[in-house]
Amino acid sequence: MLLFVPKETRPLESRVGLDPAAVARLVKLGAAVAIEAGGGEAAGHLDADYEEAGATIRTDLAAALGEADFVIRVRPAEVEEVALQKPGSLATGLMDPFGSPERIKAYADAGVSALCSELIPRTTLAQKMDVLSSQANLAGYMGVVTAAERLDAILPMMMTPAGTISPAKVFVIGVGVAGLQAIATARRLGARVEAFDTRPVVEEQVKSLGAKFVKIDIGETGETEQGYARELTPEQVELQRQGMAKICSGADIVVTTAKVFGRKAPVLLTAGMIAGMRPGSVVVDLAAEGGGNVEGTVCDEEVVTDAGVRIIGWGALEARVPRHASQMFAANIVNLIEHFWDGETFPLRTDDEIIKGCLLTHGGQIVHERFKPAG
Ligand code: NAD
Repeated sequence: MLLFVPKETRPLESRVGLDPAAVARLVKLGAAVAIEAGGGEAAGHLDADYEEAGATIRTDLAAALGEADFVIRVRPAEVEEVALQKPGSLATGLMDPFGSPERIKAYADAGVSALCSELIPRTTLAQKMDVLSSQANLAGYMGVVTAAERLDAILPMMMTPAGTISPAKVFVIGVGVAGLQAIATARRLGARVEAFDTRPVVEEQVKSLGAKFVKIDIGETGETEQGYARELTPEQVELQRQGMAKICSGADIVVTTAKVFGRKAPVLLTAGMIAGMRPGSVVVDLAAEGGGNVEGTVCDEEVVTDAGVRIIGWGALEARVPRHASQMFAANIVNLIEHFWDGETFPLRTDDEIIKGCLLTHGGQIVHERFKPAG
């Protein structure tokens, strides 16, 4: 079975689908692995490192896509490149299934079985294959580290002969995987941290990290079977904004990570709330790619408001630590392959719960219940 990893093409994307350590694991299983020339360079891996791990290097992208049995990417493929894969082959990686129905159709039309990383079920068994979690964890860390670097102040308390510096105040909105790591990182840097999430179950986790859980009464909330937040009504969002305004105005750093799976991210910080923040303070919007939690976020950019508040909207902050992000991503993918590997190949067990959860297309059809055309 030939696995192929094309070079990522999205601007600012520096991750790679497999790192040399992952290649070595796959080769040991009995797979053949090919990498597009220069594919790992931005993540610190040279072609020679891949060759040493047992991969072959390809310079002919179209031919390599046509020969591959399984194509592994980090970011969603260009629709034209999907069509280059051979019928009966597999593909995996992030596919943005809610954002681009045309890509799902392209996979079906090409006869490719697409295993979508965003849809890996949130079960104990599949946790080691969960790309969203592994990347969100690094994004949470990077959110705080980036904000700390941009802030006009330090995070820890310091008692010096020149006087005492109070700890910075950090407010984390959304306490999923990224939010928890943001809290932990801010605490490690010595900040005083507060956090809020619409899922009250996270209160204990927030406290266990030494942060304060902010209570805002917005009525009935809850979570889905997969542990995701439910969408709020516009009235609830307004109540939440009112409850958060004072905390934001007193914060040095606000990190927003609030997402609702399959929907546009809710706008939780309005321009008015930002205007109430101190000049020099920093907002990091980790939901920037999904529409943003902050009014005024520009995806992939850093903007400073007229009042001097810095809003960082860089998409996929984890891509700024590409070596570790690729290591985690690749390990997730190899864990998926290894789980089903039969000694020679990756048999597509369409009755398996993990496969059923993430298989978008198969046999020329869109097979995932959530994305099947109506009728
Ligand atoms: P996510 O990226 O979808 O959202 C991030 C956070 O934003 C969530 O905690 C969500 O509740 C919160 N949020 C949504 N709307 C909000 C609002 N209006 N205000 C404030 N917060 C809001 O979530 P995630 O990081 O993927 O994690 C969701 C849950 O799933 C977590 O409890 C996590 O521990 C759990 N999880 C389980 C598994 C597993 O069992 N295998 C794997 C990963 C995550």
